[in-house]
Amino acid sequence: MTAGDHPGFSTRAIHAGQEPDPLTGAVVPPIYQVSTYAQDGVGGLRGGYEYSRSGNPTRTALEECLAALEAPGVPSAAGLAFASGLAAEDTLIRTTCRPGDHAVIPNDAYGGTYRLFAKVAGPWGVEHTPAPIADPQAVADAVIPGRTRLIWVETPTNPLLGIADIAALAGVAEAAGALLVVDSTFASPYLQQPLALGADVVVHSTTKYLGGHSDVIGGALVATDPEVVQGLRFHQNAMGAVPGPLDCWLVLRGIKTLAVRMERHCANARVIAHMLVEHPAVTEVMWPGLALHPGHEVARTQMRDFGGMVSFRVVGGQSAALEVCARTRVFTLGESLGGVESLIEHPGRMTHASAAGSPLQVPDDLVRLSVGIEDVEDLVADLQQALGSAA
Ligand code: PLP
Repeated sequence: MTAGDHPGFSTRAIHAGQEPDPLTGAVVPPIYQVSTYAQDGVGGLRGGYEYSRSGNPTRTALEECLAALEAPGVPSAAGLAFASGLAAEDTLIRTTCRPGDHAVIPNDAYGGTYRLFAKVAGPWGVEHTPAPIADPQAVADAVIPGRTRLIWVETPTNPLLGIADIAALAGVAEAAGALLVVDSTFASPYLQQPLALGADVVVHSTTKYLGGHSDVIGGALVATDPEVVQGLRFHQNAMGAVPGPLDCWLVLRGIKTLAVRMERHCANARVIAHMLVEHPAVTEVMWPGLALHPGHEVARTQMRDFGGMVSFRVVGGQSAALEVCARTRVFTLGESLGGVESLIEHPGRMTHASAAGSPLQVPDDLVRLSVGIEDVEDLVADLQQALGSAA
């Protein structure tokens, strides 16, 4: 099966790029743990592979599967796998920008993305402007005519769960002559497919929902424009931030259950978000499935469901937020997200510490949950006991 076919999501997740191994019939792609390939005479490549930085069959399986998930039925779609989400982002910035160019980024981007723009792309000569990406006009106003090369959004955003209207921003990007980049890590391809809404490049930290088991670091880009794809492929090889075969295999294995996991993540998050709304120790709940969420209507149209990430603010400021994080027993205190196990964290001191003192600084009474797929009664009880003494 190739990205050109268009069966249902889980059929693609389980089969795209993963035909039974032609040599042995193995139904799961082998881990081609190899760096180089024998040639039949100089340039005589047997299977198209010469060196595993340039290409590896296990990575190819993952890349074809990613393309089939994000852009079903689009023959020009290409997935590219990287050693981490940030490696994918760095490769994307260096492929598409030159010193002197400019990017619009979310004013509540993932801290590592902000750090990449501020501390790496900035000194290289690519400036950025943080903008509230829920407001397409504000994004348009942040564009510098002739210089803005990237309009970069996350949706939902990390950690405030803001929603960007992808189709509206595609119009803004087109008018600006810029590429619309959507970091869709929080949604995963199961909940949202930005390329179909007009985005030019989709970014994933495959570390999260795609891998799904907190056992691998990885990143991905998916694009359909042949020129963009060609540039990305060149830089993937030239910069070399590629994942190893075992890591590709782990992500592929995770992808097979993505749909069923996401359905449970979403269902559990729904129960938890509604419990938190009613809790006296909680001042604000951020989950796009809540009717009062400012992005709810847009999320309803561009997402299949509202995701497993929930953030909330507590009565009592930073110390109360830290106390909640310290008191949970089923929710593990830790960074990252998207695994089967529930995680809790304090963005201000953990994932978003690198944004402290910047326009992207997050509230210090904020707690972020990655709601896992455990029994929801246990998750609710755990949060209730943790919040009990925080008010
Ligand atoms: N994008 C988002 C939304 C993230 O949450 C993260 C990591 O938390 C990244 C990108 C970076 O991914 P990685 O940690 O795999 O480099």
